[in-house]
Amino acid sequence: MLLQQIWRYQRIDREHLRTADGVPLRILHPGFWNHESGPDFRDAIVQIGELTPSAGDIEIDLHPNNWRDHRHEGNPAYRSVVLHVVWEGETRVASGLPILALNNVLDAPISELRQWLDVHASNASLAFLEGKCSAPLRGLSNAQLVDIVTQAAQVRLQSKANHFEARARFVGWEQALWEGMFGALGYKQNSWPMRRIAELLPELRMNEISPKASLVLQAKFFGISGLLPSQFLAGKSPTENHVRSIWDVWWRERDRLIPYALPASIWRLHGVRPANHPHRRLALASQWIATERLLKRLEAWFMEPLADKEWLISLRRLLEGNPDPFWSFHHTLGSRRLIRSKPLLGRERTTDLAINVILPWFWARANAGNSNEMKRAAESRYFGWPGAQDNSVLRHARNRLMGGRETRVLDRAALQQGILQIVRDFCNQSNSLCEHCGFPDLVRHVETEHGTNACEPV
Ligand code: SF4
Repeated sequence: MLLQQIWRYQRIDREHLRTADGVPLRILHPGFWNHESGPDFRDAIVQIGELTPSAGDIEIDLHPNNWRDHRHEGNPAYRSVVLHVVWEGETRVASGLPILALNNVLDAPISELRQWLDVHASNASLAFLEGKCSAPLRGLSNAQLVDIVTQAAQVRLQSKANHFEARARFVGWEQALWEGMFGALGYKQNSWPMRRIAELLPELRMNEISPKASLVLQAKFFGISGLLPSQFLAGKSPTENHVRSIWDVWWRERDRLIPYALPASIWRLHGVRPANHPHRRLALASQWIATERLLKRLEAWFMEPLADKEWLISLRRLLEGNPDPFWSFHHTLGSRRLIRSKPLLGRERTTDLAINVILPWFWARANAGNSNEMKRAAESRYFGWPGAQDNSVLRHARNRLMGGRETRVLDRAALQQGILQIVRDFCNQSNSLCEHCGFPDLVRHVETEHGTNACEPV
C-alpha cells in the first residue's frame, strides 16, 4: 500500500529514473489507481530509452519474483503491463518486463514519506491526473454543467434504446426486455452468461404458470448454467432438501436441455458479493418468468401517474418477487442459512434495471410507435430517477473530468449515466494525456454559447 501511494503521488526523482537494465525511463503518465482486481495502475504512459512511448498498466510489488509468486505470469489481466515497479531487486527473469526499483529513487527518506502520506496525502493535489477538460468544466456554471451532462445522458438513453429496438426486430419486444433484464442481473462480471440463459427462454419457459413454476424454472436455469451441485444428501438440511427438489425436476429435463448447458467456467465468481451470486440472481429471474402477467404489470407501472418518490419503491415491489422459503434466507445453493430474511432485489439493482434496461426499453417502444407522449414519460422517469450507488468508475471519472469541483448537482442517476457516456465517447477514444480529445473544446464552446447541443455520439 505504501509503494502504491508513493507511485500514485509520484514521490520519486522523476528526472533521473533508469530501469534495472540502466536504460533511461520517463514516466509520461503514472496511470490511474485500480481499486479492482488486476494491475495496480491502469493506462500509464512510459518511455524507455528512445523508444516510442508505450501505454499500458503498472504492476507494483516488493520484489521482481513476486510476479511469479503472485501468478501474474499467464494471467490475461496482466497482459498489458508495461512496467514492473518494485521496492528492490533487479532481476527481470520473472516477468521479462522492464523493472524500476524504487528504493534508491525516492524524493525523501522513507520514514518522512510515510509520515507525509499519513498526514498530508489526502489533501495533496493530484492535478497531474486531471484531464484537460477539467479546467474548462470548472469554468461552467452549475446550469451549464448540468446541461452538458444531460445531453450526454440523452445520448446514452437513445443508444441503449436503439440497441433494444434492433434486438426486438429479431426476437420481439418481450424477449429483448428479458435479455436486458437478465444481463443487468449478472452485473458486470456475469452479464453475458445471464444474457445467454435469457436467450434460451423460448426453450425453457412453460406454457402454463403453475404453483411450482418457479422451482421448475430454477431447475432448468441451474441445470443449464452448469452451477447445479452434483453432490447432495437428501434430508440433512434445508439446503440439501432444496437441491434435492431441484434435481427431482432436472432429472426429467436434463436429456432435452443438456445440449444448451454452459460450462461452469464461464461464470466469474471470484470477488462477486454473496448477494450478487448467480445462484441468487437466477432464483430471482425464475420468479420473474414464473410470475403471471409480469410484463403487463410493468406496462401498468409505466403508465401509472406516480409521484417521483414512488417510482423506485413501486418498481422494486413489482420486481423483488415473493418471499421464498429458501432464497429469502440463502445466498447460494451451498451457503448457510441467514439469520434474517433478505429480499432478492435491493434498491441499487432496481435502479440499475430501471436506468439501463426498463426505461430505455419503454423509450424504444415509444420511438418505434411514434409516441412522443410515451417518450416524454420515459424521459421524465429517466431524468428524475434518484442517484445510483457511487462506484469506483464514477469516482474516477468525476476526479478526472471535474478535478476538485463540487459535483452534487450531478447526483441523479441519469447524470451519472451522462458522465459514463462522456468517458465512453471521449476518454476511451483518447489516452491518459488526453491527446486529440475534442471534449475540452466542446466545453469551451458551451461556456460561450450555452444551449448548443454539445454531445453527439462518436
Ligand atoms: S480524454 Fe477528454 S474527456 Fe477524458 S479527461 Fe481527457 S480531456 Fe477530459
